[in-house]
Amino acid sequence: PELMTRKPEWLKISLPQGKEYLNVKDVIARKKLHTICVSGKCPNMSECWGRGTATFMILGDICTRACRFCSVKTGSPRGIVDWGEPERLAESIKSMELRHVVLTSVDRDDLPDGGAGFWATTVRKVKEVNPHVTIETLIPDFNGVEEHINLVIDSGPNIVSHNMETVRRLTPKIRSRAKYDTSLKTLETIAKSGKAKPKSGIMVGLGELEEEVIQTMDDLINVGCRVLTIGQYLQPTKKHLTVKEFIKPDQFKRYKEIGLEKGFQFVESGPLVRSSYHAERHI
Ligand code: SF4
Ligand code: SF4
Repeated sequence: PELMTRKPEWLKISLPQGKEYLNVKDVIARKKLHTICVSGKCPNMSECWGRGTATFMILGDICTRACRFCSVKTGSPRGIVDWGEPERLAESIKSMELRHVVLTSVDRDDLPDGGAGFWATTVRKVKEVNPHVTIETLIPDFNGVEEHINLVIDSGPNIVSHNMETVRRLTPKIRSRAKYDTSLKTLETIAKSGKAKPKSGIMVGLGELEEEVIQTMDDLINVGCRVLTIGQYLQPTKKHLTVKEFIKPDQFKRYKEIGLEKGFQFVESGPLVRSSYHAERHI
């Protein structure tokens, strides 16, 4: 409906600007890197890049899955990986003078280890070249294979996140292949390792009920996750799922309060919050 395509006042944002922003943009283009900031059309680019944080997507830009909210291209990367990428990325992070980076990837169901080995190599390279940079790895579910999840954890990121994306009932409709319980298990594996902080995120405005969001919080607390992000779903193109509801800022505040009461250490909850928003604060 027309009403849903017109954004409310609280979702209007200013255009990116500033010296740091232009520097980051320039390096990313020259080094042929992929950022979620750009490909996800994130509304926080100016703020994040200006603060020295960015989210890079590794393992290419073609995903073997096709979630209905996501603007990443779907296809078959046919088992091909670019082994020059870890080095290019590590050097770029250095020249951009970033302080905190979030790494994420497309899902690579075409690779025997789901790309876990490549992930570990990337994290090690970034740390070697940038010993003071803190790292969050926002990982796929690796089909729940603990050995593969542990490969990433053991490479030494500060935070390992995996997004639930939505509540249980809406998961089959919104995500492709990913299962609610596999995602919970992924987070449990991270928590059990005791080596990195687990973190998760959901989008709201997809038709979920408040009680379902609260249930998801309980499920996360039960598996040991204490960092949560909640943001408004925005439709990336007309082909993607439509927004069911623009959640009001007050409701986001309410979710934050409920989450903190339940025992989360950090809850970032707001219309423009993305899973990597204010990520450096969650270390
Ligand atoms: Fe990039 Fe995340 Fe910041 Fe958006 S919130 S600009 S994706 S780092
Ligand atoms: Fe997008 Fe991730 Fe889903 Fe792939 S698995 S379509 S990158 S959300």
